[in-house]
Amino acid sequence: MANSHNDIFEFEQVDSCCLCGSTSQHDAKGSSWFGVGFSYCVCNSCGLKYMRPRPTTASYERFYKDQYWQQNMQGAGYASDLTYNDTEQDQLKLRMPKYEKAYKIVKEHLLETCKVDKNLRVLEVGCAFGFTLEWLHRDYGCKVYGLEPSTEAIARCESAGVPIVARTAEEMFINPKPVSEDKKYDVILLRHCLDTLSMPVEVMKGIRAYLADGGLLLIHSVNVEFYDAMDPYHPFLYSPDTARRLMALAGFDVFRLDCSPSPIDHDTAVSIVKPSYQQAIFARRGDARKLPLPNTNALEVMTVHDRGKQVMAWANLGGKDLVRRLALKSAEKSRQVLESAAPPAIRARIA
Ligand SMILES: [Zn+2]
Repeated sequence: MANSHNDIFEFEQVDSCCLCGSTSQHDAKGSSWFGVGFSYCVCNSCGLKYMRPRPTTASYERFYKDQYWQQNMQGAGYASDLTYNDTEQDQLKLRMPKYEKAYKIVKEHLLETCKVDKNLRVLEVGCAFGFTLEWLHRDYGCKVYGLEPSTEAIARCESAGVPIVARTAEEMFINPKPVSEDKKYDVILLRHCLDTLSMPVEVMKGIRAYLADGGLLLIHSVNVEFYDAMDPYHPFLYSPDTARRLMALAGFDVFRLDCSPSPIDHDTAVSIVKPSYQQAIFARRGDARKLPLPNTNALEVMTVHDRGKQVMAWANLGGKDLVRRLALKSAEKSRQVLESAAPPAIRARIA
C-alpha cells in the first residue's frame, strides 16, 4: 500500500461545471489527507459543488481497486467518524449496524415502488461487500448483480454468491454498446456512490441504457445542504436541486425525491426538527433535457449549506441540553436586567 497520497492521486484542472457549462465558480473550503489538498468550489450558475482540481478518473479507479476498502478495513481511511481510525476495532463489524439500517431503507423504498420477487433483476453500482444484494436475494429471491472496483470487497461478494458484472462504472457505462432487453435491469441502485463518480453525466447516461423500460433508478446519496462531505472520496456533492439537474441531463424523470426541506432561511432552518444527511432519489427513464437555471449564486448556495450544518448541530442536542441552554440563557438575561436596574452599591456587590 502506498504511504503517500501523492503517489495515488493525479489531479486535472477543471474549468467548467459539468451540469451547466458555466466557468464562473466561487472557491469553497476543502480537506487535506496525508498532505494532499482537495479543494472545492460552487458553481455560480447552477449551485453544483465540486472538487477543483479533481483527481483523474484513472487515478480514482486505481484508488478504489487497490486502496479504498483495504485502507478502511485497517482503520486507515479518511475517517468521517474517528472510530473508523481505531485499529483495535473490527472495522467490518463496526459498520454492520449501518449496513442493516441501509438495507431496511432500500427494502422499504423498493417495496413501495416495485414488485419485489424472484423475477426482479437488481444491479447495485458500487455494491461494496454486497450485503444489500445478498439480503435482497435471501429475503425475496431477487436476481442480483453487483458492480464493484475493490479487490477486497469483490472477494467477499463472491463468497456470498453475489456475481460481479463489472469493476468500474466508467468501464461499464461510458459509451455503452446497445444493450439487449434481457440484459437490462429492473432496478439499478446506487448507495453513496453517485458523489464518488468523477464523470457523472456520462456514467448516468450509460446507466439509462441498462435500465429496463419502466425500471427504477434508486439513488441514496449525501445531501450537501445538511452534510458537506468534503473529502477525498467525493469529487461532487449534490443538493436535491443539482441532483435533479443531473438526472434530467442524463435522461431520467425523477418521480419522487425524499429529503429534508431546504434550509433557505433562518425560520425554515429552526423548524426542521429531524434533518437527514441523506436524500433518496427515485427515477425512471425519460428524455434528456436541461432544466432552467435557478435564480441564485454560489454565495447564497454556500449560506444554505452552512445553515444546514447548523440544523444538524441543533438536532444533535438532546432535550436536556436544550433545557440547560435555555436556563443558562435566562440566568444571563436576569443578571443583565439586575445589573442595569440595581443601585450602584448593589451593582458593585453583584460584580
Ligand atoms: Zn453549474
